[in-house]
Amino acid sequence: PIEPCYIGGPVVKGFGRGSKILGIPTANLPAENFSSVLSEHTSGVYFGWAGLSSQGIFKMVMSIGWNPYFDNAEKTVEPWLLHDFGEDFYGEELRLAIVGYIRPEANFPTLESLIARIHEDGRIAERALDLPIYAGYKDSPYLKISC
Ligand code: ADP
Ligand code: MG
Repeated sequence: PIEPCYIGGPVVKGFGRGSKILGIPTANLPAENFSSVLSEHTSGVYFGWAGLSSQGIFKMVMSIGWNPYFDNAEKTVEPWLLHDFGEDFYGEELRLAIVGYIRPEANFPTLESLIARIHEDGRIAERALDLPIYAGYKDSPYLKISC
């Protein structure tokens, strides 16, 4: 288990790779909002709850790290909300409760193997978040955006 951690901010544009190359959209937050999360967390795949203003609270799985497949120069935090939204939500306030850890960051020989692993991570997050130790964080006041 990890110490739960809370970050948030307006959804900003990333590299536009998630949806286009992987078929998996990952929302980006402004880098200055999570510098401590980046330095304190080992690179890897985490899961938790996401509060999206006006839309509600959803399960999410996220990478914290360098995305070695893409050889990024900067460490990023990229949540995939486990819900089908009809459209983009750039500019909306997104709040995250990061509550659990799945695996260390890894490189993958092919795009297909990376995509398969992310879907597996999503299934693990789905199941884990129903466990009592993680489910309660859904009600974190921080996730319920009132303004
Ligand atoms: P970017 O590089 O700008 O992050 P992506 O291709 O990764 O672009 O797509 C992420 C964007 O897609 C988010 O900023 C959000 O507006 C939208 N989006 C739609 N559905 C989801 C979802 N289930 N999880 C995360 N982002 C989503
Ligand atoms: Mg993205």
